[in-house]
Amino acid sequence: MADDSIAVVDLDRCQPDRCNYECANFCPPNRTGEECIVTREERFADDDRYEGDPDQISISEELCLGETCGICVEKCPFDAIEIINLPQELDDEPTHRYGDNAFALYGLPVPSPGNVTGILGPNGIGKSTAVKALAGELVPNLGEFDDDANWEAVLDRYRGSELQNYITQLMDDDITVARKPQYVDQIPKQFDGNTRELLEQTDERGVLDELVERLSIQPIMDQSIDSISGGELQRVAIAATLARDADFYFLDEITPYLDIGQRMVVARLIRELADDPEADRSMLVVEHDLAILDLLADTLHVAYGEPGVFGVMTDPKSVRNGINEYLEGYLNNENMRIRPESITFEEHAPRETSRGTPLVEYPEISKSYGDGEFSLDVDAGMIYEGEVLGVVGPNGIGKSTLAKLFAGNIDPDDGELDFNLDISYKPQYIEIDQPMRVDSFLSSITDEFGTSYWNTEIAQPLQLDPIMEQQLTDLSGGERQRVAIAACLSEPADLYVLDEPSAHLDVEQRVQATSAIRRYAENHDATALVIDHDIYMIDLLADRLMVFDGEPAKHGHATEPQEMRAGMNDFLADLDITFRRDEGTGRPRINKPGSQKDSQQKRDGEYYYS
Ligand code: ADP
Ligand code: ADP
Ligand code: SF4
Repeated sequence: MADDSIAVVDLDRCQPDRCNYECANFCPPNRTGEECIVTREERFADDDRYEGDPDQISISEELCLGETCGICVEKCPFDAIEIINLPQELDDEPTHRYGDNAFALYGLPVPSPGNVTGILGPNGIGKSTAVKALAGELVPNLGEFDDDANWEAVLDRYRGSELQNYITQLMDDDITVARKPQYVDQIPKQFDGNTRELLEQTDERGVLDELVERLSIQPIMDQSIDSISGGELQRVAIAATLARDADFYFLDEITPYLDIGQRMVVARLIRELADDPEADRSMLVVEHDLAILDLLADTLHVAYGEPGVFGVMTDPKSVRNGINEYLEGYLNNENMRIRPESITFEEHAPRETSRGTPLVEYPEISKSYGDGEFSLDVDAGMIYEGEVLGVVGPNGIGKSTLAKLFAGNIDPDDGELDFNLDISYKPQYIEIDQPMRVDSFLSSITDEFGTSYWNTEIAQPLQLDPIMEQQLTDLSGGERQRVAIAACLSEPADLYVLDEPSAHLDVEQRVQATSAIRRYAENHDATALVIDHDIYMIDLLADRLMVFDGEPAKHGHATEPQEMRAGMNDFLADLDITFRRDEGTGRPRINKPGSQKDSQQKRDGEYYYS
């Protein structure tokens, strides 16, 4: 008997009318006459509160032999079962469990007035569940899924902890909540009207004009919400949340589709709201851009576990230790390894290496749209086979225009490009809306679909297996991103252009996607041009950098591809941001503006590798 394992049955996948209960027939306890796997009807004969169909299965966690057996997991033709051994260090009962054989959450984050609390962890680990509890929308059942869930019991559990105060206030109905959802793309489906109408509804603090100005929302105030871009929607959603007058603000991802300058503005706005001496506001932020999270949060909960099965919120850590431990893959207080290997950064710029075969050499080119409303100038340069070029610069500065020029989709006004590279392009905003399954979609792109090479190089690092049978239209933002990266890399091409592959991916997925892109470019003698605003991702990914500067929507200028050190200096000088190195781990951290290190590094002209 293993009392430390958890069994989760995915009721969307369990299809007893299409199998022969192989799980139950092969389950060792069942074979000795015990009722480890039975139908839900058998298990809950007198109880109509269970979810799912009566014929779907229920697994007894008391009788189950645990992960080392795992026979049912293998036997189920629909991958509906997960059996995972819980870490021994976890001695509490869950805070909430959605039902029999459903996801379990352990622990809760602690909102703290005057502070920004961060949550760092993968998707599907229970962050939204925790927030629903803190917002009073879900009464945690402490793992007992009867009808008795009540806040007194929760308060008992957390008496004496930092959560006690918060829960008491919540029970007194004293807490108001403002929340920004993770996937802003859904907003137009829920709101019919223009930006001004949406924002005016939410302006409880009378701060709209300031927010609109600082987030540069003026140009789209009279535009209908369903016509604005993802980056604009993100800023509108953030403004709408911060304009509310609440005690507890929850922001689920603030960076997707925003450039670094915009990310810094948002971070500053959140900070100011926490620091407001007139009010006791608690800010809770989920964020996967570690440089921004580091800058913004005071304390951090690391969320770990097995996505979709169980999630654990650690006690709060300092933001520095939290991120260091997360990257290291080992949580000190919890005595818990969460990843076999650590994620490390080079403290010194990589040395110049010989570059191999040129892919293309191009002259100075320029391109403008309309009557010169926007113009782009590109310095002459050379791109090599097998390299990954990082592309950095603000939104609206001409990055996609350059990709289109290289692809031969549009012609330059000045300068001639005598090549038409085969380009495979993943746009920033992904529209894959065909009513089609993921596997049919990907096999329509490449003959290599399903080969062991394709599985190892693409499907596995992008975690496609669990979503292969889903409809494209049912995918979450992060799942859609992974399918779009896979589709882009599966296309035969000379140049792979990926625009913001990090959007909606969690940190693990960013690292995995990064190595998939790198390996793919190397193995195919192809070049990857990766546009991204996550500095950590660019650092881990790029061999050289192409830097865009200018004035968004008016004029853009692209440098030739540069070595990392020169490129980072060029880029960060324009943004007026310097990075120092964490003393323990060498990881880059944004300096406080005006600090001694910031001033010294600016004098030395060393913005990144100091
Ligand atoms: P995150 O915010 O970290 O992405 P969530 O809290 O949204 O994670 O979800 C954690 C897990 O709980 C997911 O596997 C999800 O499928 C499951 N879950 C969420 N809501 C329910 C529900 N009402 N019933 C059963 N399972 C649920
Ligand atoms: P980025 O990829 O850096 O965000 P883009 O290359 O997409 O920038 O766009 C640069 C500028 O050119 C933007 O102001 C955009 O609105 C404008 N633009 C892009 N395509 C066209 C077009 N076909 N006609 C007119 N303006 C365009
Ligand atoms: Fe039975 Fe547990 Fe083994 Fe599954 S893992 S077959 S439920 S003992």
